[in-house]
Amino acid sequence: MIEDKLITDTDLDPFLSGEDLADKTKALLLQQKAVWPLCSKGYNSLDGVEVRNFEFDGFNIKVQFNPGRIVSSAAKVDDKSIKERKCFLCFNHLPEEQKGILYKNNYLILCNPFPIFNEHFTLPNVEHLPQLIDDSFSVFLDFSRDLGKYYTIFYNGPKCGASAPDHLHFQAGNKFFMPIDSEYDNVVSTLGLPLIEGKNLRVSAVDGYLRKFISIESENKYKIIKAFDVLYSILEKISSKGEEPMMNILSFYENNKWRVVIFPRSRHRPSYYFAEGDENILLSPAGVDMGGTLITPLEKDFNKITKEQVIDIFRQVTLSTEFFEYLKKSLKEEITST
Ligand SMILES: [Zn+2]
Repeated sequence: MIEDKLITDTDLDPFLSGEDLADKTKALLLQQKAVWPLCSKGYNSLDGVEVRNFEFDGFNIKVQFNPGRIVSSAAKVDDKSIKERKCFLCFNHLPEEQKGILYKNNYLILCNPFPIFNEHFTLPNVEHLPQLIDDSFSVFLDFSRDLGKYYTIFYNGPKCGASAPDHLHFQAGNKFFMPIDSEYDNVVSTLGLPLIEGKNLRVSAVDGYLRKFISIESENKYKIIKAFDVLYSILEKISSKGEEPMMNILSFYENNKWRVVIFPRSRHRPSYYFAEGDENILLSPAGVDMGGTLITPLEKDFNKITKEQVIDIFRQVTLSTEFFEYLKKSLKEEITST
């Protein structure tokens, strides 16, 4: 029964500092840290996390050494491995202490016990449905609005970072943790090519930021959805047949406006991931990495990774120049600002 997994008001009340969903979400983490040892251990371990910073022209890339993330970075996500493991996002498999908040009757807000952010949540559907953005993009935007006071929401495609590609879910983490959250305006004004500058809709393409992206900004949810649908169908044309186009998506909500950043991907894991010996770097880029915080679960990789390798990792997983040019041209022709 899903009801058994929902936190009660009585349990949440002592931790509440406000009334809206973002406040309740924040309170949920405080409650879970108090009653669930694995969760408090995960967040305590963030104190030992080390960070390196690489400076580029007008932006930064952070590298975070986070041993707790080994489970996710090294996750086997092939069909066979997925079928053989017990799905950790199905509510009936959750640990006894783990409780969540029900959202729109079909999603749960859960604390991620293996955090990257100081506050890190997983937002799974209550059903075991495949990870696909096409039909869930609207809820993704709702989450972004309703949790936007504190959190950025992100989506990892089934073949580019989701460690549960068989169970539909999003994630949420503190705003301004990923460098892109604070760099965005400057990056778009210096490197961005405006594709659409309409009344209440701006679509931009950014190259020169190591990873290429398309952004969609509007106060109107339906304009965002319309523009995303066009982007999705263009990406489908340059993707493997029958599969979701590879992408990571971040959504930042502020002043009643969404800012959705889509990173189209060309591959899941860079060559370093599969290299033998000294060449090997266990780094499996997902949304947070594309947002500018690279996660290395192994200390040897954290210590040795170079600026050139950072550049090369992004070059390998981002969309090729040829496809990006095609994408920009098609978007400009097909999206209307009305
Ligand atoms: Zn599941």
